[in-house]
Amino acid sequence: MGTENPGRPSFPARPPPMTPFASSGPVIGSGGSAFRPTPPPPGQNPLPSPSIGPQMGSGTPAFRPSPPARFNDPSVSAPPTAYAPPATGPYQRFQTPQFPPPAQVAPGHGPPLQAPGGSPPSSYRPQTQVSSLPMGTPPQSVNFVQPAGSVPRPNFQLPFAHADSSYPGPRANMQPPLPGYVTNQPNPMTQAPTMASSFLSQPGGFSPAPPTSSPPFPAQPGSLYPPSSAAPMGAYSRDQMQYPGSAPPLAGIQGLAEEFSSLSLSSLPGSIEPGLDLKALPRPLDGDVEPKSFAEMYPLNCSPRFLRLTTSAIPNSQSLASRWHLPLGAVVCPLAEATDGDEVPIVNFAGGIVRCRRCRTYVNPYVTFTDAGRKWRCNICSLLNDVPGEYFAHLDATGRRIDLDQRPELSKGSVEFVAPTEYMVRPPMPPLYFFLIDVSMNAGRSGMIEVVAQTIRSCLDELPGYPRTQIGFITYDSTIHFYNMKSSLTQPQMMVVSDLDDMFLPLPDDLLVNLSESKSVVETFLDSLPSMFQDNVNLESAFGPALKAAFMVMSQLGGKLLIFQNTMPSLGVGRLKLRGDDLRVYGTDKEHALRIAEDPFYKQMAADFTKYQIAVDVFAFSDKYIDIASLGTLAKYTGGQVYYYPGFQSAIHGQKLKHELSRDLTRETAWEAVMRVRCGKGIRFTTYHGNFMLRSTDLLALPATDCDKAYAMQLSLEETLLTTQTVYFQVALLYTASCGERRIRIHTAAAPTVADLGEMYRQADTGAIVSLFSRLAIEKTLTTKLEDARNSVLLRIVKALREYRNLYAVQHRLGSRMIYPETLKFLPLYGLALCRSTPLRGGYADAQLDDRCAAGFTMMALSVKKMLKLLYPNLVRLDEYISKPSSQANEFEDVVKRLPLMAESLDSRGLYIYDDGFRFVLWFGRMLDPELSKSLLGPDFAAELSRVILGEYDNEKSRKLMKILEKFRERDPSYYQLCHLVRQGEQPREGFFLLANLVEDQIGGTTGYVDWLLQIHRQVQQNT
Ligand SMILES: [Zn+2]
Repeated sequence: MGTENPGRPSFPARPPPMTPFASSGPVIGSGGSAFRPTPPPPGQNPLPSPSIGPQMGSGTPAFRPSPPARFNDPSVSAPPTAYAPPATGPYQRFQTPQFPPPAQVAPGHGPPLQAPGGSPPSSYRPQTQVSSLPMGTPPQSVNFVQPAGSVPRPNFQLPFAHADSSYPGPRANMQPPLPGYVTNQPNPMTQAPTMASSFLSQPGGFSPAPPTSSPPFPAQPGSLYPPSSAAPMGAYSRDQMQYPGSAPPLAGIQGLAEEFSSLSLSSLPGSIEPGLDLKALPRPLDGDVEPKSFAEMYPLNCSPRFLRLTTSAIPNSQSLASRWHLPLGAVVCPLAEATDGDEVPIVNFAGGIVRCRRCRTYVNPYVTFTDAGRKWRCNICSLLNDVPGEYFAHLDATGRRIDLDQRPELSKGSVEFVAPTEYMVRPPMPPLYFFLIDVSMNAGRSGMIEVVAQTIRSCLDELPGYPRTQIGFITYDSTIHFYNMKSSLTQPQMMVVSDLDDMFLPLPDDLLVNLSESKSVVETFLDSLPSMFQDNVNLESAFGPALKAAFMVMSQLGGKLLIFQNTMPSLGVGRLKLRGDDLRVYGTDKEHALRIAEDPFYKQMAADFTKYQIAVDVFAFSDKYIDIASLGTLAKYTGGQVYYYPGFQSAIHGQKLKHELSRDLTRETAWEAVMRVRCGKGIRFTTYHGNFMLRSTDLLALPATDCDKAYAMQLSLEETLLTTQTVYFQVALLYTASCGERRIRIHTAAAPTVADLGEMYRQADTGAIVSLFSRLAIEKTLTTKLEDARNSVLLRIVKALREYRNLYAVQHRLGSRMIYPETLKFLPLYGLALCRSTPLRGGYADAQLDDRCAAGFTMMALSVKKMLKLLYPNLVRLDEYISKPSSQANEFEDVVKRLPLMAESLDSRGLYIYDDGFRFVLWFGRMLDPELSKSLLGPDFAAELSRVILGEYDNEKSRKLMKILEKFRERDPSYYQLCHLVRQGEQPREGFFLLANLVEDQIGGTTGYVDWLLQIHRQVQQNT
């Protein structure tokens, strides 16, 4: 595989200067727009290389031996491919495949455009060979044929074997059989709880466990913080920590309640089976609650919306870490949206950014100043650094810098530095949006082209980076259509290339143009695009060749490539075939192969895209199998995102596409980024999970990233025993802002090391654990059966709770009670929800393959909050609020109350909304007041709801409902929640949209909450 060969570019070097344009004519990249930077000099890494200058990542901590210097040394052998790592433990560690940077070529190795890896891989043919078409001519009418015997051109062949050339016949309809639930009509009116209430809320009679650890957060005067500020942020005593705001510590029962929670399992009347009181089970009805103790302990830490640890008590030994059976690590969302008044301050150092000489840590609130202000000590590696002259300030009597209040980088956990030129290897790139639009028959018929064209047009003025923003388009069906958008034209010129096997660009420039200069041409193009292809009857999709063409256009600058794909790629390189409809594969060791890219072309292209700073977002639309597993690979390894609109119809899904595409185009984007998370001596991040490609062992390459992307990572202890009492983490994201400034966003946090497993549990963060857990489980489905992935979730929860039980069960004689830490009381339920989530649930019939894969790609990038909401969605009753005469404005907040996700929560007389962050389901009870139905549904109130699209009617109730939906959407803007209407008893829609998603219920072959807990409890008790 080309990607695993460091030092060798993945496409062959160009031939010596024999190309028609090497000695005369326009040289690609030399002319063109003023915003197109000069190509990098020969052999120079087009990426900001961490090995050059004081860039982020250039420092390898001296105390941490780095792996062999493969980064710059082409002679070093390839890193092992990370695709099939050895299985260890319940989860394998899935490292994202690494790819090497382009080769560093020895100086003097030829002119710029011939150096492998240094030259943009464009190819060009003289314009005279290409027919220019006026807009609107059907593209089928012109074929560009490569002249025989033409002069040798740069060879741009990717080194893979072509897949089977036979084009799959008509595809089987992938319409699913009904999902695998059994109709289980709830009757909330009569259904009584089936379990006797036996929950004891007060585990009375036990005395609190004596503290078994040394105080985990000792005060460290003079080392942690400037002494004068130690008081407010101070080191807390263990008791203050455990019982915030209530020192001295509570004793007795309450104290124990702080230690752990428990559920009693008692026999139900008439049964020998142990039971649980359904009503008393813990449920996360308040959604994600960010852990407070972390911020209280260390007020200088960055906000948890940027960084959350799975436990903020770091084990001080490998033996202790091995008893923590849950994931140990962090979830990082470096660009999380600011809450009002909490924007990250921007700092511009006049004399260069202050960093540790040894480990390259950025100056932060936890460094300490000594020697009358002339030295500072690095909090990560303890090295004493000189304070640069221009950064010097005197210390006051308490040792605090007198300018501390004017220095955000010394007083805030999050800060953004403006990076000077040594953090660049080329001028900061302009924001660039390139669109690759499938215009085959269904794309026009479904209305996709129209919605896409209109949305892009409406966003033109809001694209970030004016006036530098660049834009370009390619459309394709069985041929590739290029558009000359030169600003001097009155309308764009279309050029059609039909030679799919040997892709080239028909024009060297003007396929990519400056938006502000060519805006009217771009607008004309977008206005006419839908009509150009509305009668297109071409069913083919030359996706792979189109992708290569887009790569050639974009590779000089990088940027964002947005792909709109309507059918399965059928022509040229990267064509795919129908798979996934073979029932027999499920349950065998071949099953997982359906969930990964079939053709190495996709991973290879992703590697090439990342290398040239191109991020790919995939928008897929089809009512048939389209192979999201393969297409999504492009997004996964380039920092992109997958959007999936199965069976797209603009009348139904248009609004959703419009919103999500608009957000994608207009949200603040970080370009050509790399991210590294540093941490203190003795610990190390070892695995990373999300959408990116790993460059070197710990540098994440992110051609683009934004507020909607989170990344998870696992920690390991490198040393048997940690001697420090505090460990520090520092996230550094080096990127180009849309305004053209190079920036470094820094988030710093501290956490104590502990010698006590109980303390690790007390400081556990379920949200972070579940987020990391979900990513690990989804990755596991790429190498094993679904069942194995689900079992591994169960197994880890069991191991963790068993270890916990062993801490307390004997001394407290807990007998058969189920015990768990208060901090992890929702973990079993989230674990169940994860096993029933789209990527993991059931088997062949329970989710379509494309749905599974799309959900998997999406979940890999979710923030903690969104992940938890997807796993345990909101269920809220609305009819009472809507029917009440309108009074106070804020009334709504009091009325909205989340309900347990079970059929028992639904009353036939009610109207409910189910909101998982990606869609709404509005459930109309069978006995809902008909007047209310009429008000909300208008003339459609009696119709079958599958055909009804919710709209606003001229009455108070309808307006109120629409207002509620609007409010919900505003709170959760990353995706647009399309509203599906379902009437009670309307099958199969009710089952599909709602009942199958009520995760607490046992439906069909699935496990319900009670059974799940009993299963966990039984397994926990084994071997205790
Ligand atoms: Zn250091």
